[in-house]
This record gives sequence, C-alpha cells and structure tokens, in this order.
Amino acid sequence: MTACDVSALAPVRAVLADGTTVTLPKDCGCTDHAGPHWVYMDALAQRANAKLLDPVGKTPLQQVLGQAGFAIEEAARLEDKLRMMKLRKIVRLLPPSVG
Ligand SMILES: [Zn+2]
Repeated sequence: MTACDVSALAPVRAVLADGTTVTLPKDCGCTDHAGPHWVYMDALAQRANAKLLDPVGKTPLQQVLGQAGFAIEEAARLEDKLRMMKLRKIVRLLPPSVG
C-alpha cells in the first residue's frame, strides 16, 4: 500500500463475536493508513506474499518454489491474523465498501 491507496485510509470495520459491528481504533502514529497497525501490516504481508506467485521471468522450478513459499508465508500470516482477531474477539474484518 502507498500513501495514495484509498483503502489504506478508509476506516477499518469489524464484526465482533457478540454480533456488533465496530470501527477499529487507530493504535499507531502512522500517517499512511487508518485503523489498527496490525491490520495494515497484514495487508502489506498479503501483498508481498502474492508476489511470490508472479510467474513473470521465472523458470518452472522457480514458479513451483514460489508457490511453496507462498503457501508457507500465507500460513504464517493467516495464523498470526487469526491470533490477533481472537485476542480482540473479532470474527470478521469488513472490506471498506461494506456499510
Ligand atoms: Zn501504523
């Protein structure tokens, strides 16, 4: 994400375990994103991991290794994201466009 990425500046909303929808508060001093820092870092990690699947300029072996790396990195990212969500009793993060 960049400073011009609108989605990074949109409020981060979530559904909690009790069914309520809340806007997650900002917890850092960054000026290039809204919402909690861990949500922003998760989005950056997801974007970085997706680049591992880019086949451009890679041999078939490199593509397979990229896919394996993607699976390993995404498993770690998602495990950490789930841990952060459970700590905060979040059951779902809402995309910026959902009311
Ligand atoms: Zn931040």
